[in-house]
Amino acid sequence: MTQGDLLSLWPRRHVDRTIITPLSRVRAGAEYSIIGVVERAQYDPKRQLLRITVTDGLYELFVTFFHGRWLVHQLQPGTRVVLQGQVEYRGARLVMTHPNHQVLTANEEPETGLIPIYPLAGDLKQRKIQQIMKDIVPRLAPQVADPIPTALVTSEGLLSRSEALLHIHHPPTQEAFDSARRRLVFDEFLRISLAVLRLHQADRQYEGVSQEPEGPKSREFVAHLPFDLTVGQQRAWDVLKAHLVAKRPMSLLLQGDVGSGKTIIAVLAMLAAVDAGHQAAFMAPTELLAEQQWQVLRAWLEPSGLRVGLLTGHDPSEATRIRQDLSSGTLKLVVGTQALVSPSVQFHQLGLVVIDEQHRFGVRQRAHLAQKGFFPDLLVMTATPIPRTLALTIYGDLDIAEIEGLPQGRQPIATRHLSYAQRREAYETVRQAVRRGEQAYVVCPLVHENEESDLTAATALAEGMRQVSGWRIGLVHGQLSAKEKTEVMEQYRNRQLDVLVATTIIEVGVDVPNATVMVIEEADRFGLAQLHQLRGRVGRGTKPASCFLLADPKTDEAKSRMEAMVKWTDGLKLAEEDLKIRGPGQILGRQQHGLSGFELADPVADLAMLEHVREVARDLLRRDPDLAEADHELLRHWVDEAMHHGELGQLLH
Ligand code: ADP
Ligand code: MG
Repeated sequence: MTQGDLLSLWPRRHVDRTIITPLSRVRAGAEYSIIGVVERAQYDPKRQLLRITVTDGLYELFVTFFHGRWLVHQLQPGTRVVLQGQVEYRGARLVMTHPNHQVLTANEEPETGLIPIYPLAGDLKQRKIQQIMKDIVPRLAPQVADPIPTALVTSEGLLSRSEALLHIHHPPTQEAFDSARRRLVFDEFLRISLAVLRLHQADRQYEGVSQEPEGPKSREFVAHLPFDLTVGQQRAWDVLKAHLVAKRPMSLLLQGDVGSGKTIIAVLAMLAAVDAGHQAAFMAPTELLAEQQWQVLRAWLEPSGLRVGLLTGHDPSEATRIRQDLSSGTLKLVVGTQALVSPSVQFHQLGLVVIDEQHRFGVRQRAHLAQKGFFPDLLVMTATPIPRTLALTIYGDLDIAEIEGLPQGRQPIATRHLSYAQRREAYETVRQAVRRGEQAYVVCPLVHENEESDLTAATALAEGMRQVSGWRIGLVHGQLSAKEKTEVMEQYRNRQLDVLVATTIIEVGVDVPNATVMVIEEADRFGLAQLHQLRGRVGRGTKPASCFLLADPKTDEAKSRMEAMVKWTDGLKLAEEDLKIRGPGQILGRQQHGLSGFELADPVADLAMLEHVREVARDLLRRDPDLAEADHELLRHWVDEAMHHGELGQLLH
């Protein structure tokens, strides 16, 4: 780590120690910073509690620390400390539980103001990091050059970057902190907006192609569809058609809830490409899903006399053949993972790329899609609604179409939350479903530190059920090879298995309409988005379906999640609930969307700012497309750097 890097070790929060309150004035029910001397200290090894009494000579405060062993030697009697935390009554005593603390040496004055709390790394103690930063930030921050031209800094009413860096660590007041954060969030947004827009400018050199959505293959296909498109599908298809016909390179995000029928729209688009004489590729996030979607697409497309290739890692000789056929153009349609867009796969004339349930497909990867002299159309499909501005920021220019509603005749999935004491009810429903010839999923969470014990849990569950139930039970988990997974899924799809016990690898896309019951073990371990995706695996046919959440939730938050799942089946509604329950910060966290990558900015909470900054970026590039002007030089380097390094770089990849 260089000193410069240290500047971007952002404080996670600040502790307000602006005012130190004399012990005589401390009352129960509020938060205080106090100063005192440790009078007594007693460690209870069994409960790992450290109890100390702090006094100012006259008044006393009782303090408890959890996991206090490591504090024992720091907080010996006679030590001067500053403590900061909530004060409550216990009996007649005033107590503080697990406060923030700072040990003072003999004559040391307590630090006051807003004290930064850093994420702890390795062995470094909080106090040590604070000292290092206190030393380093004031020396380095003033040397940081401001990449944003002064005129813009002024017109936007921003702090200088130096001042912002200084105040994000050591703000004299809350207002100073807010201004500092505003400036730094502005910077993050400006950087990515400029990066994306610049990458996009590079795309413009490519021509697009047009597809033929009313060609013979499409028409024949639509005529033989076993169902009518839903109103939502028809609307989305109309939007999509207009883009497919246009010559301009298409980038379209198709949003539609789990089960809304996105795949068939993709099939229509792929046929439009074939009718125009092009090839089409369908990309899934995992090999398992690629395999599964291949089965689905084949079933739809082969009756039209079209071969669909599957490109995976587990049959090298087959892969070689498919690559040859793609480059010669004899194979028009192919399904696979991201490997499809790697340079090792050459297409004869790739006209359309469909990306299913994959959020981490940024502008960079799009660049890989460029063909000899033209740019294929791009259709990204997702069940997780992404705020429009954010989508624009990540994907560059992007149109959005939405499938509203679900196909007719869908029964809402009856969802129940059962405690472990009521677990039998869930399995009783499984038993009845199996008796009717239907199938069930049992999902086990990844809960343990090492995958092996998860596996043991899932395996034990499967074994146990096999012994008592007489069901034909399959097991899929992350440690099976792709081939093994496929085999189990295949058996399940062919109804050779009644119950599939699975870890979360079945989360997205798996489509077995005969499966009508889902049991989610330890459901409180899953996030809402994940639960919704999981539940979407059932209720895909016309038979009524049910989902059981087995959980004895320990926290209010977990309880709210269970309640939300029982109450709502609509993905949008659940996303809203999720916002309420967890706050925006985590929704777009790495695990959820892979869209994070911001250091300080919260792309949801700061959305209005993002929208504004995007306009600022557009404006800048309108006037100086290559950022070639003298006072844009720093800015240009700073943006280029973002494209190649760090979190932002990853975001773009
Ligand atoms: P998702 O949007 O989650 O990818 P799918 O495309 O897998 O949803 O569709 C879910 C199920 O609904 C599939 O079995 C599909 O064949 C079926 N389906 C799609 N469109 C319709 C429709 N218009 N009417 C009836 N069933 C449909
Ligand atoms: Mg799908």
